[in-house]
Amino acid sequence: MDEVFPFDVRLPAEADAAVAVARALVEAGHQALLAGGCVRDLLLGLTPQDYDVATDAPPERVQALFRATRHVGAQFGVVLVKKRRRWIEVATFRADGPYLDGRRPVQITLSDARHDALRRDFTINGMFLDPVRRQVVDYVGGRADLEARLVRAIGEPAKRFDEDYLRLIRAVRFAARLGFQIEPGTLAAIQARAETLAQVAAERVREELEKILTHPSRQRAWRLLDECGLLPHLWPGAGWVRDDVSSPAVEPPAAERGKVSFRAVDILLGRLSACVPFELPLAILLASRTAQEIDRIGRALTLSNEQRENTTWLVAHQADLDDAGALPLSALKRLMAHDAFGALVMLAHARFEGLPDGTARRAALDARLQSIAPDRVQPPPLITGDDLLARGVPAGPVYKELLDALYTRQLDEELVSRAEALAALEHLLAARRGPEME
Ligand code: ATP
Ligand code: MG
Repeated sequence: MDEVFPFDVRLPAEADAAVAVARALVEAGHQALLAGGCVRDLLLGLTPQDYDVATDAPPERVQALFRATRHVGAQFGVVLVKKRRRWIEVATFRADGPYLDGRRPVQITLSDARHDALRRDFTINGMFLDPVRRQVVDYVGGRADLEARLVRAIGEPAKRFDEDYLRLIRAVRFAARLGFQIEPGTLAAIQARAETLAQVAAERVREELEKILTHPSRQRAWRLLDECGLLPHLWPGAGWVRDDVSSPAVEPPAAERGKVSFRAVDILLGRLSACVPFELPLAILLASRTAQEIDRIGRALTLSNEQRENTTWLVAHQADLDDAGALPLSALKRLMAHDAFGALVMLAHARFEGLPDGTARRAALDARLQSIAPDRVQPPPLITGDDLLARGVPAGPVYKELLDALYTRQLDEELVSRAEALAALEHLLAARRGPEME
């Protein structure tokens, strides 16, 4: 099914650096092709994220040909080449050696374009683009699958997934993102070994999950992860209560047995706006977990500290904005001061959708937020520890207690001047002294 066909689409300006690298390699007597995801995206009329070059020039030769290079994946024959202020990944054609652990090839051998195509994961990711001849080189039937909108493993699916279990979740990512089906033989192979996803390094799974959940196609991905049987293997202890996704959605059903339901997640994911931080969909997946569980899961997934904290915070406060009018001003301002507050508002909007009074709730929340000028959210405290010290208050937990109480009243705008705050402090101190003196 070898296929070479003309590529007559104009390459975007972002491709210039990679094309220049390919040209230079060709002028030096080598074969050089754009490879992988960028070819797929260009043929689909999408904007590629990056442009990778594949060549028959060995890494030492690539390094010798360009002024600025970095040798990144020595064992995989990958060299970074700097061109027009961009770093382009130049990978020597290779054939992967045997895989022993479902993670990485034990060794690779430098090879030709055909073998380099055959070692790639899915047919749609296995095509090359010759920017000089303006031709697509397709050894794997990628074009036909692009037209049929199918994610199909290259070669025998079972074997290819057993080489690298990460491909199980990559299949879902591409199918969701592109709106493709997973080809039945490929799907069956995924389902048959879904549990091996748990053997993949957590960091690699987290990277895929982050790409999946931050993409607008996240709801479709959620359903595909389920269809593939991958959900229970995303992290140790992953699981959602089963319910029927096909019945009409009105309101997320309540969580059961300490686990949020599959459908509740599905509905909320479907309501998020296109662009959200990773922590928001993650908080939806973890909505019924305790802070300790989220911390454990976050560590297992190798989230950053910030991602873990934000996710925990979002889950803890997920319902706080449901009735914006009822929230004390101080409590609302404390929420507003948090880094993840923007995500919390998006979550509230998603929760409101589908509620009979959702529109009113949303309007009430937005109006209340509008009414609070940014400089009122986190004003400098009127009273500090120095004031307590000056009054001879002995050191101890009482400091935090008093300062918190006074700051809450300041945020509530009951205390608006330092004089008022000092008077309130005197009052509190007197009240504390009172019983002790009896
Ligand atoms: P994206 O646009 O998300 O970057 P991509 O197709 O470029 O998608 P990458 O993860 O950047 O995906 O990988 C680049 C290419 O390398 C893929 O298109 C595929 O040909 C190959 N590839 C990447 N990971 C694997 C893998 N685990 N197994 C086999 N081939 C892979
Ligand atoms: Mg890529």
